[in-house]
Amino acid sequence: MPPLPPNEGERLAALRDLRILDTAPEAHFDAVCSTAAALFNVPVALITLIDSERQWFKAKCGIAVDGTSREISFCAYAILSDDVLVVENATMDPRFAYSPLVMGKNAIRFYAGAPLVLRSGIRLGTLCLVDTKPRRFSKLQGTQLESLAQIVVAHIELHRARIAAEATLDERIRSEMLTRASEERYRTAHEKLEQTADLLRLAQEAAGAGIWQWSFDEDVVQNSPESALMLGFHGESSSTNWIDISIAEWAARVHPEDLPLVQAAHTAALRDGTTYKVEYRVRRPEGSAGYRWLMSFGRIIRHEVTGKALRIVGLDLDVTERRTTQDALIQSEKRLRMSKERLALALDSGSDGLWDWNVTTGQVWYSDRWYTMFGYEPGELEAHIDTSLGLTHPDDLKQTLALIAEHFEGRSAVYASERRIRTKSGDYTWVLSRGRVVSRDEQGVPLRMVGTNIDISERKASEHHISYMARHDALTGLPNRTVFYEHLEQRLLDVRRGRGQAALLCLGLDRFKSVNDTLGHPAGDQLLCEIATRLSANICDGDVVARLGGDEFALIISHVDHVHHVSSLAQSLIDAVGQPLDLGGVLVTVGVSIGIALAPADGDMPEILYKNADLALFRAKAAVRTSYRFYEAGMDAAIETRMQLELEMREAILCGSFAMHYQPVLRLSDHRIVGFEALMRWPHPTRGMIAPGAFIPLAEETGLIVSLGSWALHEACREAASWPGHLRIAVNVSAVQFQQPGLEDNVISALTTSGLPPHRLVLEITESVLVQDAEAVIACLRRLKSLGVRIALDDFGTGYSSLSYLRRFPFDSIKIDRSFVNEIDDPAAAAIVRAVVGIASQFGATVTAEGVETRHQFEQVGLDGCTDIQGYLVSRPLPADETTDLLEEVSLNDFVSKFQKRIGLIQV
Ligand code: C2E
Ligand code: CA
Ligand code: CA
Repeated sequence: MPPLPPNEGERLAALRDLRILDTAPEAHFDAVCSTAAALFNVPVALITLIDSERQWFKAKCGIAVDGTSREISFCAYAILSDDVLVVENATMDPRFAYSPLVMGKNAIRFYAGAPLVLRSGIRLGTLCLVDTKPRRFSKLQGTQLESLAQIVVAHIELHRARIAAEATLDERIRSEMLTRASEERYRTAHEKLEQTADLLRLAQEAAGAGIWQWSFDEDVVQNSPESALMLGFHGESSSTNWIDISIAEWAARVHPEDLPLVQAAHTAALRDGTTYKVEYRVRRPEGSAGYRWLMSFGRIIRHEVTGKALRIVGLDLDVTERRTTQDALIQSEKRLRMSKERLALALDSGSDGLWDWNVTTGQVWYSDRWYTMFGYEPGELEAHIDTSLGLTHPDDLKQTLALIAEHFEGRSAVYASERRIRTKSGDYTWVLSRGRVVSRDEQGVPLRMVGTNIDISERKASEHHISYMARHDALTGLPNRTVFYEHLEQRLLDVRRGRGQAALLCLGLDRFKSVNDTLGHPAGDQLLCEIATRLSANICDGDVVARLGGDEFALIISHVDHVHHVSSLAQSLIDAVGQPLDLGGVLVTVGVSIGIALAPADGDMPEILYKNADLALFRAKAAVRTSYRFYEAGMDAAIETRMQLELEMREAILCGSFAMHYQPVLRLSDHRIVGFEALMRWPHPTRGMIAPGAFIPLAEETGLIVSLGSWALHEACREAASWPGHLRIAVNVSAVQFQQPGLEDNVISALTTSGLPPHRLVLEITESVLVQDAEAVIACLRRLKSLGVRIALDDFGTGYSSLSYLRRFPFDSIKIDRSFVNEIDDPAAAAIVRAVVGIASQFGATVTAEGVETRHQFEQVGLDGCTDIQGYLVSRPLPADETTDLLEEVSLNDFVSKFQKRIGLIQV
């Protein structure tokens, strides 16, 4: 079983999170596979992902299976290494020789796999090549394979970003559904309440009346037949005659509970009134159970003169039905109350508060939960509509009142409003109030309205969070691209109306990637947050700083009075960002490049202004040090050409379409050729031969110089190895190559693969190399020198032109720049040359005059003490085959005399 990486758990979790395993083939991954197979001329290329027990092929070319067990996989080893794992002949490698994939005739012999390393450092799998024949695999090919692997990783990172975006969307949908669910719950509760209210509908009563008369001088009452019937006496139904019923008979039929009531009514009427009204029960006739209810009206008839009570006349109504309904009503009201209570209970145990508003009086019944929802004890506040309106947030009041009015006027079926209510502690809590008018008078004026309050603060918070997330960068909390564009749009609207000028600054961090790569993702995040803080601290009120993504920030300066204010702000931002920062004990310094566009001068529409600031940023980044640049017309075209060139250069590197030319160096003491300088050329299919001045700077900015320089070194050493043993080869090494690790390894590899002895190799460096990180570079130069390699200081007299650099390192040779040679007649130039020669001679260095074109220069530099010359006077840089012709002349000893004749030193 192959060993497991130390972070296996984390690695597998990251792989699972990507949700890429067992997904369908995707064209961009397949394309990388087939490119790799074609480029390296191998039958099989794969993108593998190492799962816990297996390796699975995300893309494949030249093979049908989807994967193998992890146990026998080469890639499981490849993900353990930082570099490409190359197995040139698997039968010779103890790790793989006995694998079932290797044993057997046509099985795997060759394997090369570049690990797929995410920005977080997680190794998912490999981009790998497989062949059934043993093969060699050069370092350069390894680098090419790594470049392709980086493309795969870029696609995977894209895939990850897509998944993250989908997750955010899911979260948004989930919260939406939560809201819907709570509204649904409210609706069901509300409907229940109204059904119960329907039971309140009253039945109408109807009754026929009975009449009777009682003279006080008799103890019988004369009753009409209806009245007798009501009292439970069966008269002849057809009879219209009065029926006499004795008081005793009557009293016997009255419900014992009600008799005193009736008697009291009589007594009271006899004493001080003329009429009375009483309701009492009388027993139903024999055979039928229960009582019927009578409503009895009585009037006392008195003597006209004496006022003595003579008799009572009365009228009875059978109100049994009404009384029953009334009982039912009481019952139903009781039930309603109960169900209301039950509902309140149910709702209170949830999160809803109930209210029942008597619109006419303004009185409101609030449920206990209504109070506790806002931090009050039940009943603590006055049960009045003004209480809840008074607690409503002033900003929400107007809308709440408008929605109530709308419902009152019948323009909405339900009243619903979201508003903030002030709690006892003084904070506001969000509620959803919903309600409905349940009774109105004949004119339709609302009498009563009931409803609920639901606490929606959680939903509001999550809505707020979502909208915050949608508008802010999660990491730094700065406004994001959306908000940024809104502000820009707004400000430019004013600018277009002639209100002042504004500036847009695009900021890109320098060296951020290397912090991320070396210290890891969390450190990178911490750095971004710190930078965000520093930027925010340096802007004024009304200005906006946003993070647009990655290490890209942008700033809107709303009011610009003078352009130099913008430059000084840009400089202060550069200074602030450039302060060292502490990332978990490691002090790190990053820089920032800034591109600036002014509105309206450089554009008054957001897209244009942004594009121009971004172009300026691109130019600022291209400068050696962190800097700011203002947009200038014409930048677009220049940058487009550069981008095109960069693209073509990448292709040319992959295809190996660069060439080396060689220019001889001539020793002045005997006019013999002592070596050559290797100078790169790019034979371009449409633009012809491109000189290095046109592409080296771009290669340096983009970092492509590293692979290009490595190729130059190998190529030059390989070529020089075939020359006579006394000839040296000088190769130019750019400052960028010193900043990246691997230069020494490269030199060693070029020497060993070509077989060139180290003392024949000269590395030409410029002063700029020493300016950057002098101590580290000098240590590196010393190590190279200890290998036997010679070091030359190139282009002396340009750039820093400081004699002090000459003393910092014992160079083997110093090359005086062509510009000095050109002005050699100027006594000042000549003096400097002589000074250089003086210092050089102290440590035994040779001094080469570059760009010698004329016999006069040739003589003059000799007089000033130069030991060697290089220039068109001797020869232009030559392609490899012409160099070989020239070397033929050298070996035939023809060259010196031919040269001397050519320049007129000897007469023909
Ligand atoms: P350099 O190292 O100073 O190379 C000398 C340049 O002077 C070469 O230009 C050469 O063609 C030119 N030159 C030589 N004699 C004369 C002369 O008599 N008159 C004039 N006018 N020019 C002469 P070239 O080949 O265009 O290279 C330009 C620069 O590109 C080089 O300057 C070097 O800095 C860089 N370069 C070339 N090849 C490489 C390379 O492989 N790696 C790196 N890093 N830089 C390279
Ligand atoms: Ca040079
Ligand atoms: Ca030079």
